[in-house]
Amino acid sequence: MTDRLPGFNTLAIHAGAAPDASTGARATPIYQTTSFVFDDVDHAASLFGLQAFGNIYTRITNPTNAVLEERIAALEGGTAALAVASGHAAEFLTMHALMQPGDEFVASNKLYGGSINQFNHAYKNFGWSVAWADNDDPASFEAAITPRTKAIFCESIANPGGVITDIKALSDVAKKHNIPLVVDNTMATPYLIRPFEHGADIVVHSATKFLGGHGNSIGGLIVDGGSFQWAGDARYPMMSQPRPEYSGMVLAETFGNFGFAIACRVLGLRDLGPALSPFNAFLILNGIETLPLRMQRHSDNALVVATHLSQHEAVAWVSYPGLETDRYHALAKRYTPNGAGAVFTFGLKGGYEAGVKLVSNLQLFSHLANIGDTRSLVIHPASTTHRQLTDAQKTAAGAGPEVVRLSIGLEDPADLIEDLDGALRA
Ligand SMILES: *Cc1c(COP(=O)(O)O)cnc(C)c1O
Repeated sequence: MTDRLPGFNTLAIHAGAAPDASTGARATPIYQTTSFVFDDVDHAASLFGLQAFGNIYTRITNPTNAVLEERIAALEGGTAALAVASGHAAEFLTMHALMQPGDEFVASNKLYGGSINQFNHAYKNFGWSVAWADNDDPASFEAAITPRTKAIFCESIANPGGVITDIKALSDVAKKHNIPLVVDNTMATPYLIRPFEHGADIVVHSATKFLGGHGNSIGGLIVDGGSFQWAGDARYPMMSQPRPEYSGMVLAETFGNFGFAIACRVLGLRDLGPALSPFNAFLILNGIETLPLRMQRHSDNALVVATHLSQHEAVAWVSYPGLETDRYHALAKRYTPNGAGAVFTFGLKGGYEAGVKLVSNLQLFSHLANIGDTRSLVIHPASTTHRQLTDAQKTAAGAGPEVVRLSIGLEDPADLIEDLDGALRA
C-alpha cells in the first residue's frame, strides 16, 4: 500500500472496521452489552478519569457504535464523531456543548420542521434562543449576530427540499465573528457534499435518513471538523474551562482537535443519555456500505421524475436544483456536482385540496413523514410536518399550502412517473 488515502467507496465499506480480534467475524458484530469488564482497579480508574480510552458502559461508548463513529468521521473528513440516538439528539448535544443559559445562535429559516420546533420551543427551557436568518442571504445571518451568539446553524441541502445552501458564504460570516458553523448534512450525506471542505466546523446528521437508507432505524451523528480553536476561548466553557466533572481537566487542551467530540460525549451523552442502540448502529453501518451507489441512484431518479413533473399541466412549479432552469442550479453545480439528492418539492395548481388528494391517491409512493428510504415517499408538509407553524412560517420554510414533498427511492423511475400521473389525473 502507498500513502494514498482510500477513496470514498472504499471508506464507505472499510473505515473503522476490521475483522473481530477474538472471533474473526468479518461483519462488525453487534456488541449487545450494557457494560464491559475492567482489567483491574487501576484500569477502571483511568477509564473513569479519561486518562485511557476504553469501554465502560454503552451509554458512553460501545464497540459497534465506535465503528460507525470512525466511518462517518472518515467519510466527512472530520477528526472524530459521536453516535447518538437520533438526529434531534445530535442537534441537542451539539448545542449543549456550545451554549450557556442566555446564549443565542443564528439558524437558517430553511430547516427540517422538527428542528424549527426544537429551536423555537424546547431550547427555551435551557435559556437558549434562536434568531432566524434567510438561508439565501448570508448578510441576514451576520445582521442577527450579537455578542451572545455562539453558533450558526444551517442544512447543506435544505428542507423541505430543493434548496442548496452557500456553505462557504455562511462560513465566511462565522469565521469573521469567530463562531463555529454547524451544518446538518442529512439530506446531502458526505457522498454529495462534504461541508468541512467548504468551511463548516461541525457536521450533524440524522442517520435515520440516507445513511441508514432503508427506513428501519433512528440514529444521529455529530462529526467534529477539528477546525475551531476552543482552547483559551472563555465563551465556550465546556471545551475551554477546567471541568469539575473530570478533576479540572480542560478538554480542548487534553484532546486538541477532537475536543468538541469529546465534550459532546463525556459532558452531553454521559449526563443527558440519548445513546444509540448497538443494533441500530449495525443497521446504519450496513446502510453506509452502499451509500455511494444509493445516493447516485436516488439523485438520478429524482432528476428524471422532477423533469417529468416540470412539464405536467397540473403542476405550477418544481423546485429541484438538478433542473437547469432552477434558481439553485448554479449552487448545485458548485456544491453537489454528482447530483442534487432525492428530495424535492413541487407546487400543485389546485392548492391545499389538491395536495391532500394527491397523497391519498398515490399507490407506489408511501404517505409518511420520512425521507431517505429505498422506497419513494410523499408528504404534504402543510397538513403534516409543518402544521404547527404559522402560515407565514410555513411559506418562509418552503412549506406553503400547495407544496408537496417527494423523497425519490430506488425503484424504476417509469413506475414512479406512472404512479404520479395516475394520482394527478384523479
Ligand atoms: C429527520 C431530520 C432530523 C431529525 O432527525 P431524527 O433522526 O428524526 O431525530 C434533523 N435534520 C434533518 C435535515 C432531518 O431530515
